[in-house]
Amino acid sequence: MMKNVSDTGRVGASDIGALRAAMRGEVLAPDEPGYDDARRVWNATADRRPGLIARCADVSDVQRALGFAVERDLPVAVRGGGHSVAGFSTCDGGVVVDLGPMRAVSVDAVARVARVEAGATGADVDRATQEHGLATTLGIVSTTGIAGLTLGGGIGWLMRKHGLACDNLLSVDLVTADGRLVTASADENQDLFWAVKGGGGNFGIVTSFEYRLHPVGPTVYGGSMAFAREHRRAVLEAYRELTRGAPDDLTTYAAMTAGPDGAPVAAVAACYAGDPADGARLLDPIKAAVGEPLLDGLGPLTYLEQQSRMDAAYPRGQYHYWRSCFLDDLTDPVIDVLVDCASDIQAPPALELIVEHMGGAIAAGDGAFAHREASFDVLIAANWIEPADEDRCVAWARSTAAALEPYSRGGYVNYEPDADGAHVPASFGDRLARLAAVKSHYDPRNVFRLNQNVAPAG
Ligand SMILES: Cc1cc2nc3c(=O)[nH]c(=O)nc-3n(C[C@H](O)[C@H](O)[C@H](O)COP(=O)(O)OP(=O)(O)OC[C@H]3O[C@@H](n4cnc5c(N)ncnc54)[C@H](O)[C@@H]3O)c2cc1C
Repeated sequence: MMKNVSDTGRVGASDIGALRAAMRGEVLAPDEPGYDDARRVWNATADRRPGLIARCADVSDVQRALGFAVERDLPVAVRGGGHSVAGFSTCDGGVVVDLGPMRAVSVDAVARVARVEAGATGADVDRATQEHGLATTLGIVSTTGIAGLTLGGGIGWLMRKHGLACDNLLSVDLVTADGRLVTASADENQDLFWAVKGGGGNFGIVTSFEYRLHPVGPTVYGGSMAFAREHRRAVLEAYRELTRGAPDDLTTYAAMTAGPDGAPVAAVAACYAGDPADGARLLDPIKAAVGEPLLDGLGPLTYLEQQSRMDAAYPRGQYHYWRSCFLDDLTDPVIDVLVDCASDIQAPPALELIVEHMGGAIAAGDGAFAHREASFDVLIAANWIEPADEDRCVAWARSTAAALEPYSRGGYVNYEPDADGAHVPASFGDRLARLAAVKSHYDPRNVFRLNQNVAPAG
């Protein structure tokens, strides 16, 4: 069994002092100033008390903090942006290797490549790349860390045109369980490179990512429109029609959610990465089919606005439980389930069903991400503020996932919640055996186990 910093009897103040002296970044122990803020992650359900938080300033810090934990057989939680829905980037009693201070982004506009340190957020990358009229696929909330997001796949507004975030990786630098710094790319450590493109944080600590960039914006056609709740079925049917003929430049989501006043709505959100003038032509048929929206916020906006427009809806420090289901099609029975389960939606608490249109360039990608052939992902998100709402919210998310189960190909590692491994086989599908082989090569003792965990083969 793994130990705690406090119960090893071998981690005294002098050990911590030695680590502190060796690192450029801060080392925070319980009860020290700054510890309480540093231990908190985005999802307040993960209210844990690590034995140490090592806020790494460079690669050597990462190697030292990891070595400290491994030598003492302490649990290791790796943190990029701290947005793990499952709360994997913290732990009780162990060592948090926090890459938050490592956020540098450098852009080679001629080669169209960004080199990004692993503590960066989507906003850090979008800002730096848009200065050159470039971007790569990242998530739709810009405060999310690029590290966890990319390692699990990386779904976002550019995915149908340019692939998932992981499909745009050119290389990663990674510290292995035994403390070596290795590079993985199409030419070096190819199996590791395949595995980090969707296999999550199982294989080591990535210290930097290199992404391929594409010309994007500065103006795109995007935003969202919302209809009254009684139009849910009509919205989903019109959305299905839209997605059937959609060009790869267009990525759309349909959301059964609550509007700004808490009233339930059926919304369609979009990003058209082609000529903004064509965006309205593509999306107007939804209005023709459903009727006038309550709120029409679709139109030209900057790509940076598009990427951050959802940020305020997902602040740090609330409670969350998410599930997800990849689907082959939005069939009538699936729409029945979505409409039925949406009848509980009212805010607060904020229960949401978000249908994400996949396809396009995703199918052509290579790597461990297992659900490339899926046409849709349904994110089932329960978000609440009052602890007393927990049971109701979790029960709603679970029963909705169970109702979609007959149509589901498995869930998305970055959305799935439980730390007990229950969702691992379905999330990794037929990639699991190869992932286990790579795991046994790079992390045979399963040091990196706080994730959707792939057990080492054998
Ligand atoms: C508000 C919100 C919006 C989201 N939107 C999207 C979206 O649009 N698209 C999408 O695809 N996902 C989305 N997600 C899910 C997101 O991809 C995951 O939560 C992801 O884990 C966040 O990455 P992070 O670095 O912030 O997480 P962290 O909590 O820091 O890390 C999560 C896990 O990733 C691994 N990890 C992190 N950093 C490293 C590293 N440097 N090396 C190795 N492993 C590491 C570890 O296993 C860690 O436990 C969203 C999540 C939230 C909370």
